[in-house]
Amino acid sequence: MAGSFLKQVEQDGVQFVSLQFTDVMGTIKSVTIPVGRLEDALTEGVWFDGSSIQGFARIYESDLVLMPDVDTYRVLPWSAPGRRRARIICDVHGAGGEPSLHVPRQVLKRALARAGAMGYTFNVGPELEFFLFKREGEPNNDHPTRPVPHDVGGYFDFSPRDEAQQVRSEIILALEALGMQVESSHHEVATGQHEIDFRYADALTSADNAVTFKYTVRGVAASHGLYASFMPKPIFGVNGSGMHTHQSLFDEEGTNLFYDDDDEHKLTRLAYSFIAGQLEHARALSAVLAPTVNSYKRLTPGYEAPAYICWAQLNRSSLIRVPALGMETSATRVELRCPDPSTNPYLAFAVMLAAGLDGIERNLVPPPPVNEDVYHFDQCDLEERAIGTLPGTLAEALDALEDDEVIQEALGPSITDTFLRAKRAEWGEYRIQVTDWELERYLMGA
Ligand code: GLU
Ligand code: MG
Repeated sequence: MAGSFLKQVEQDGVQFVSLQFTDVMGTIKSVTIPVGRLEDALTEGVWFDGSSIQGFARIYESDLVLMPDVDTYRVLPWSAPGRRRARIICDVHGAGGEPSLHVPRQVLKRALARAGAMGYTFNVGPELEFFLFKREGEPNNDHPTRPVPHDVGGYFDFSPRDEAQQVRSEIILALEALGMQVESSHHEVATGQHEIDFRYADALTSADNAVTFKYTVRGVAASHGLYASFMPKPIFGVNGSGMHTHQSLFDEEGTNLFYDDDDEHKLTRLAYSFIAGQLEHARALSAVLAPTVNSYKRLTPGYEAPAYICWAQLNRSSLIRVPALGMETSATRVELRCPDPSTNPYLAFAVMLAAGLDGIERNLVPPPPVNEDVYHFDQCDLEERAIGTLPGTLAEALDALEDDEVIQEALGPSITDTFLRAKRAEWGEYRIQVTDWELERYLMGA
């Protein structure tokens, strides 16, 4: 196996290999080895100082080893011939050879193993939205620090001369060269906002793909003098960027366990319990799925992002949506709409699964669907129907995570601790800022 793999790498003309992994916050980390070191790296791994990576190890137990996962080998299409580079995503093991529990990819693998023991494969399809902004050129004169969208397009707009069209086409070609199957791409609602969807896969592959997607989009944008932003709400008053995630459980034979032809919503009991589990844990889930101060500027009524804890068939204002089904019954899925692209996809899919499985294990039943536009509900309507709200701030979400043992257990004690500390510090720093809004509102009046 190693022999034929190394032969393939040689045939591809690869000279450097980037060994990649992500830290707890989802930041991608990479160490490069010359291809001559690859054989050793596959057998013995590559040692590194884990204490320098946020949350990975304490100083007195800092030696960790990267173990390349050869299934993730891909030649980077933008690397020049003669200096061809491939990437391989790695697992991280401790000095004793055991997989490290401080590492997000391992957290997801552990969650998937638990589902596997129950007979389930967790498939997900994340939809990452993003903005393309001008790097230089006309500044926004009123607010020089605010980003400037690079186009004036809107939802599903098409113009053959549109530069965005070209940038998106290049991104798609790069993603396909990286082995991802792109299903569609479109201009999103806000100016400068886009979405490119790739085919669903098992959650581990999809998490690897989501990480790959982000750096590919950033790289192609940069080659056009633009920058891509996955910030959840970069511009006040217009839609933010989500990472809605379509989810389903399959059995070992590849049958979709969410589809029931006889049910009014075409869903099985299992699917309902999965939905109920996610609704029950929604507030704690938000801490991981919408993990920045800015995420909560997106989760407000009026911009197609969820603010309330309910599910519905088509309604885009709900937290969970069951998309319309075409001919393909295996495509039955439930779409969770609170995640945004600032989340770490490994941790995100692990906690989503844990919440869903908790619903299944406890046989939970969700409340009836809410097929009206919940954005128009007032406090009385919400109370009457017992519809809860998502956290209004990162601080509220962190409180919910601190109270939720199921989600903490999915993350494991070490990552829970690192995550809560880092995010409390982020909130603390934000809390003492004096914003433009405050100056405009209070400076002359108070
Ligand atoms: N951009 C919206 C969000 O923040 C979603 C738009 C859509 O439904 O695709 O979730
Ligand atoms: Mg969208």
